[in-house]
Amino acid sequence: MAKKYEGPAIGIDLGTTYSCVAVWQEQNNRAEIIHNDQGNRITPSFVAFTHDQRLIGDAAKNQAASNPSNTIYDAKRLIGRKYKDIQNDIQLWPFKVIAGIDDNPWILVNYKGKEKHFFAEEISAMLLTKMREIAAKFLESPVKNAVITVPAYFNDSQRKATVDAGTVAGLNVMRIINEPTAAAIAYGLQKRTNCTEKRNIFIFDLGGGTFDVSLLTIKNNVFEVKAVAGDTHLGGEDFDNRMMNHFVEEFKRKKKVDISGNPGSLRRLRNSCERAKRILSFAVVATIEVNALFQGIDLSSSITRAKFEDINMDLFEKCMDIVNRCFVDSGMDKSSVDDVVLIGGSSRIPKLHQLLQEFFEGKELCMSINPDEAVAYGAAVHAAMLSVKSIPNILLRDVIPLSLGTSIKGDIMDVLVPRNTSVPITKKKTYFTDVDNQSRVLIKVYEGESSIASENNLLGLFSLSLPLAPRGLPIQVCFAIDKDGILNLSAEEETGGNKKNIMLTNEKERLSTEELERMIQEAENFEAEDTKLEHKAKAMNDLNDYLCHVRKVISDNDVGSLICPVDKLKIYTAVVKSQNLLDGNKHEETHVFVDFLKEFQNMVDSALYKISKGV
Ligand code: ADP
Ligand code: MG
Repeated sequence: MAKKYEGPAIGIDLGTTYSCVAVWQEQNNRAEIIHNDQGNRITPSFVAFTHDQRLIGDAAKNQAASNPSNTIYDAKRLIGRKYKDIQNDIQLWPFKVIAGIDDNPWILVNYKGKEKHFFAEEISAMLLTKMREIAAKFLESPVKNAVITVPAYFNDSQRKATVDAGTVAGLNVMRIINEPTAAAIAYGLQKRTNCTEKRNIFIFDLGGGTFDVSLLTIKNNVFEVKAVAGDTHLGGEDFDNRMMNHFVEEFKRKKKVDISGNPGSLRRLRNSCERAKRILSFAVVATIEVNALFQGIDLSSSITRAKFEDINMDLFEKCMDIVNRCFVDSGMDKSSVDDVVLIGGSSRIPKLHQLLQEFFEGKELCMSINPDEAVAYGAAVHAAMLSVKSIPNILLRDVIPLSLGTSIKGDIMDVLVPRNTSVPITKKKTYFTDVDNQSRVLIKVYEGESSIASENNLLGLFSLSLPLAPRGLPIQVCFAIDKDGILNLSAEEETGGNKKNIMLTNEKERLSTEELERMIQEAENFEAEDTKLEHKAKAMNDLNDYLCHVRKVISDNDVGSLICPVDKLKIYTAVVKSQNLLDGNKHEETHVFVDFLKEFQNMVDSALYKISKGV
């Protein structure tokens, strides 16, 4: 295969709760997970807005309790969805989401004292920008090309919106691949190298917000997905919510106060619940202590693993139903699975191990690849494969998660491409005009499993402008699903032996070109602001360092006592001025600190020069 991308190419796992970035290292012949500026290999998918700056990742998550209404997380639960479909989530978020144009959700924040709204794509783009910068710092080179992963169960709108987010982040999105497929690549490369025998692999990926299962076969570097199933709304956060509700109720009962209306208290409780949940994956009881949770009252309690399992049992069972559905769909028997691979942070929960082992009749589960990093690892391998010459080709054959079709008379869903069909694929369908001189035909494209078209997800209202002709004019519509699982529609009309491509306009397109351009411009402005802040922080740091150095010099008896009194007075004045600048003038421009430092350095250098010359 021709390698058509120049420059470094990275793999990004853009998670609901944590994101991870990796790059292929040719010299080591493996992918490297890149740590962020805090030294962490995964970065919280959080973006926060304050009165003077925007924060992304650890910095944003760390201040969430004190700034809950402007700290945005769960953008992945919003992306590519309509406002009406996210009503349950809205109840749980401390930040405000409203219905924007075309029922697209808008996230409202207060930034630098002004109200601002963002699309989920923009928040995701900020996270992608952060991951791109983490990689650029590590590679010491700008990064443009990336493979981004999405849950296998993401629908067409969610995939397209993720590509848009990548574009806004200044990335060239080489491919979108499914998270479990990426994890299978990581597993195949790390644990099953040179696997010449066909192996059936079952990937169980339970993260913070989404659940995916995937059944694949691997043989000689060919990864063929047989079936996927999942829920884009099931994961660790749901377990946290259940535990939070449990403690909110307990607090109400024992302390007679209701914290449910206080976002700051809820955030602190959420953090403690998440910690307790992690502890329960290896201990049978976890304590939970939150000082002054609400109105100065402490929360001091504990929860057993049995209780945790009890309050989440229906969710665990839901996971197992989805596992079962994947086998029913694939027509494959569960006994033919060679490896059951667990990934995603929530796959560490012991109850799920037990349920899975029962399902697979005692089979050992594979937990040897890092569940937090496997997806990014696989994405980096794929990115390298598309851009680096020395890495062997891997062949991926993925499937679409939901059936695609059009609405025909009587609101019937006419399925053209059934779910779990291998992609890429092209399917054609011929439509005929109903009346003479029909100038337009409207095609409604849906995805989903209901036989009633309007109960499925409407992907697009495609409007075709036609040449005037008697009724019965045939128009061939072509459904082309690309390797990313994204649908592209085209149409052809044949009159007098001439084939003509007809322009299709999607009247339900999510973001217009102008909107996308505006977002790119805004993202660039944000980046320029970040760079400005970084420069200012550096200038302040440099001045601070120099101030410490000068204090040491003048207090050193051997040198300090030799400085002439006039110079000493000047230096003391400059020391005080530096301190004042650093303490009180955060609003000063960068050049004020840089210029003052230069002046200060010249003054001290000249005083020291005089000593060295014995003047
Ligand atoms: P996503 O890809 O959706 O962002 P991850 O795969 O990074 O999610 O998993 C994050 C989720 O895993 C969080 O909800 C976190 O609380 C949960 N998690 C991490 N470690 C553990 C553990 N030891 N036990 C239970 N849950 C865990
Ligand atoms: Mg994940």
